[in-house]
Amino acid sequence: MPRSYEELLSRARAGLDEDAKKSGSLRLELPMPDVIWVGNKTIFRNYSEFPKLLRRDPSRMLVYLAKELATAASLVGDRAIFIGRKDRDSFYQLLQRYVKDAVICPVCGSPDTHLDKEKRMWFMVCEACGARSVAKVA
Ligand SMILES: [Zn+2]
Repeated sequence: MPRSYEELLSRARAGLDEDAKKSGSLRLELPMPDVIWVGNKTIFRNYSEFPKLLRRDPSRMLVYLAKELATAASLVGDRAIFIGRKDRDSFYQLLQRYVKDAVICPVCGSPDTHLDKEKRMWFMVCEACGARSVAKVA
């Protein structure tokens, strides 16, 4: 039986809480993207959960996804709509890469970071160890 999205999400959150208590290697468990195809479009139905979970700007994250998938995308409420048929695994892999490049602190591995712009450069600022690293993706 496939797990429901809510279960996955609460599992991801529980994992976060657990990880937050530990020091050292912190892991962020992403929910599965909920993707359907309508005609020649891909509707990413739970898109808004990702920027919320990662504390990133929904439109900037969408620009990243659209660019990596070489297509156009738009935000409609909680959903993101992509031109062309894209599969769930592509989104999942991209989101994991995004987490690695723009969310996880490279110094201590904490996902508690935020982005900060300085002189046209984006930095990832870690709230756990205070490290300031150049963000590969912003
Ligand atoms: Zn850190």
